[in-house]
Amino acid sequence: MSRVFNFSAGPATLPLSVLEQVQSELLDWHGSGMSVMEMSHRDKDFMSIAAEAEKDLRELLAVPANYKVLFMQGGAMGQFAAVPMNLLRGKTSADYVVTGSWSTKAIKEAARYAKANTAAKPAEGKFNHVPERSTWKLDPDAAYVYYCPNETIEGVEFGWVPEVGTVPLVADFSSTFLSRPLDVSKFGLIYAGAQKNAGAAGITFVIVRDDLIGQPLPATPSVFDYKLMADNESMLNTPPCFAWYVSGLVFKWLKSEGGLAKVGERNQRKAALLYDLIDSQSFYRNPVAKQDRSWMNVVFTLANPELDADFLKGAAKAGLPGLKGHRSVGGMRASIYNAMPEAGVQALVDYMKEFARTRG
Ligand SMILES: *Cc1c(COP(=O)(O)O)cnc(C)c1O
Repeated sequence: MSRVFNFSAGPATLPLSVLEQVQSELLDWHGSGMSVMEMSHRDKDFMSIAAEAEKDLRELLAVPANYKVLFMQGGAMGQFAAVPMNLLRGKTSADYVVTGSWSTKAIKEAARYAKANTAAKPAEGKFNHVPERSTWKLDPDAAYVYYCPNETIEGVEFGWVPEVGTVPLVADFSSTFLSRPLDVSKFGLIYAGAQKNAGAAGITFVIVRDDLIGQPLPATPSVFDYKLMADNESMLNTPPCFAWYVSGLVFKWLKSEGGLAKVGERNQRKAALLYDLIDSQSFYRNPVAKQDRSWMNVVFTLANPELDADFLKGAAKAGLPGLKGHRSVGGMRASIYNAMPEAGVQALVDYMKEFARTRG
C-alpha cells in the first residue's frame, strides 16, 4: 500500500485510522454479519450509529440544546435553496455577504426564492479579502444574514464571527467545518457538506435553532423541509447511511485528537508553515489580505505560470497530488483540512523550496 499526501479540495483526504476502521468493519459491522451499506436504516444497529454520530457532533461543537442537528442530502448546494425556502418565514428578503465563488452561487440560488440583497462585496474580481464589518449594508427586516466563513476557491476565510444584531446569522461552513472551536449560539443556522473536512461525499450537516423552523415556503420539497426532517430524526426517507457512518468515525477521531481546540491549533500551525514560506521569497505569491487568509485552502501562484504544469507534475511524482487551483482562478491550491498531517504540509514546503531553488 502506498498513501500520498492528498491536497484535493474535496472530496478530500480522510484520517488513515478512519479508513482502516471502515476497512476492518466493512464486511461485518460489530458482529452484525453485514456491512453498514447493507443495513436497514430502521434497524437498531444503524439507529445506534446515527445517534452516536449526532451525540459526538453535538459534543465537539458544544451545540446548545435548542438547536436541531440534521443529516441531509443534496450537498451544500442543496442548502443554497433550502435556506431561503425554510428561513424566509413570511419575510421577503435576505442579506448576503459575497466574498467569493461559493457565496456568489448562494446568492444567485437564493434570488429564485427571495429578494437577495448584496450586503457587502469586494469590487469585481477582487475576492482577496473580507469587507470590513462597518461597510456592510444590513437590512433590519431581512429574514437572515448569510455568509461563507471560508471561500474554498479563493482561500479567503473569516477569522471572526460577524455581529448582526437580532437577525439570524446563516453560514456555509462546508470547507472549514470543525476546523476549530465555534460558538454555535451566535448562529441561526450553519451547514456543511461532509466531503471537505468531515467525511465522505453524500451527507450534509445542518445545525439550526429550533424557533426558526416550521414555516417553509409551500413549495418546499419534503426532504428539504427542516421541520419535517427534524421531526423524523433525518430519516424521513433513506438517509445516506454509509456517509453518515463515516462521518461518525471522523467525529470520534476528532475527539481522540483532543477536540476542536487542539485540532484548531494544529491547523493554525499547518497554515503558518505554508504562508511563512510563501512570504519569505518572491517565487510564490498568495493574493489574499494577511488577516483573511484561509487555514484550510492555501492558494498561491508561481512567478512564472509557464512552470505550473511542471510544478504539478513534479508534485504528483513526489506523492503530493491535488494541488491544481480551481479552474476559475488558476494557480495552485493546497487544501490542508483536519486530516492533512503536519508532515504532509512539511513535505509540500520542502518540495516548493526545492522547486523554487532549481527552477525559479
Ligand atoms: C464545496 C463547497 C460547496 C458545494 O458543495 P456540494 O456538496 O458540492 O454541493 C459549497 N460551499 C462551499 C464553501 C464549498 O466548499
